[in-house]
Amino acid sequence: MKRPGSRKAAKTQRNRKGRRGDGETGRQGEEEKGSKVFTCSFLYLCTGYYRYEEGYTPEWPGFGEYKGTLVHPQKWPEDLDYEGKRILVIGSGATAVTLVPAMAETAGHVTMLQRSPTYVITMPSQDRIANALRKILPDKAAYTLSRWKNILRQGFFYTLSRRRPSLMKRLIAKGIRAELGEEHLPDFTPRYDPWDQRLCIVPDSDMFHAIKSGKASIVTGEIDSFTETGVRLTNGDVIDADIIVTATGLILRLMDGLELIVDGKPVIHREKVAYKGMMYNDVPNVAQAFGYTNASWTLKCDLTSEYVCRLINHMDEHGYSYCVPRLKDPTVAREPALDFNSGYVLRALDEIPSQGSKHPWRLHQNYFKDLRMLRYGRLEDDTMEFH
Ligand SMILES: Cc1cc2nc3c(=O)[nH]c(=O)nc-3n(C[C@H](O)[C@H](O)[C@H](O)COP(=O)(O)OP(=O)(O)OC[C@H]3O[C@@H](n4cnc5c(N)ncnc54)[C@H](O)[C@@H]3O)c2cc1C
Repeated sequence: MKRPGSRKAAKTQRNRKGRRGDGETGRQGEEEKGSKVFTCSFLYLCTGYYRYEEGYTPEWPGFGEYKGTLVHPQKWPEDLDYEGKRILVIGSGATAVTLVPAMAETAGHVTMLQRSPTYVITMPSQDRIANALRKILPDKAAYTLSRWKNILRQGFFYTLSRRRPSLMKRLIAKGIRAELGEEHLPDFTPRYDPWDQRLCIVPDSDMFHAIKSGKASIVTGEIDSFTETGVRLTNGDVIDADIIVTATGLILRLMDGLELIVDGKPVIHREKVAYKGMMYNDVPNVAQAFGYTNASWTLKCDLTSEYVCRLINHMDEHGYSYCVPRLKDPTVAREPALDFNSGYVLRALDEIPSQGSKHPWRLHQNYFKDLRMLRYGRLEDDTMEFH
């Protein structure tokens, strides 16, 4: 792949200042007194999708009364000593199921408190097929085959979940019964269907081992209030803990607060529609890496990065200084960008750009469709203007 020739790479610094874009030239720069100014011809934002400075913490009654140590995973103290301590982890998402077995190794006991269950499945941390392929094939061939195997397997289980949710629920329940027995099933049986929210994977059954050994346990219940020593649940139960970890999620935020300004006007994210899942209507020379919610996140980021390189090379070859997608088709309806019902998605849907009902504004969440559109698809279409 060619690199972006003479164009200066876009550099960013960690601040909240505006990025100024010129709608006529597409040139991006930064203007703010007292800060360093970087200019670039094309801005590629690899800024993730959430607020990095702090995570989401609900406001519980009595929160301030707790006298023990409170930790949010996004602000993990380097010197947190939890050996032999009673830990309460609030939440049951990817962060909680990662933390619980890791902390259970040395903690006195870890309780995972969940308001509602999450689907959890186990997978080996070592890919045996990939390891076997590496022994008999050159590295690159083994890597390509393993990667495709994983893409196809993930696509198969996602499609099965959407088309036959009851079958998928039975398969997941079978796994829980085999790991922990029937009595634990209610703690792993959500009200929603598989892939309405992301599934959690525990490597080598580590969390199940921690529960079986008695080092960890799960409580499903709603917090009524915090006390000086722990939390009280709405059913009257009390859980005391030396350390409470609020694994309650992240605050979804595009560009982490960075403000885009085009022709002197700030770009309002919620008014925008994403073009091919990476650029925004009427915003020139800005693209953003965004991943899949139903597969490996970076699978889509890879395709987006390839496309951005193709786009920049194309502009260099033709002497274009800027490109901008224009939403001219009145039959394109605006739709929510994500069809997930996770708390962190629902909290942010009103703030993020939409997707459109038709190509090239429709988000696929499908690697094969994106492969065709982003790796092999035309760069010049009726929507993108080049100047
Ligand atoms: C708990 C958890 C578990 C996950 N598990 C998986 C998983 O199993 N598989 C998977 O594929 N994905 C998973 N993900 C998604 C994961 O975030 C992505 O796979 C990957 O980290 C995204 O890479 P990225 O480079 O796009 O963003 P990040 O790795 O999030 O990097 C973005 C960077 O941009 C910086 N930045 C943001 N805004 C600004 C700004 N305004 N100025 C300057 N710098 C800025 C940030 O500080 C950060 O360094 C998980 C995410 C979380 C939170």
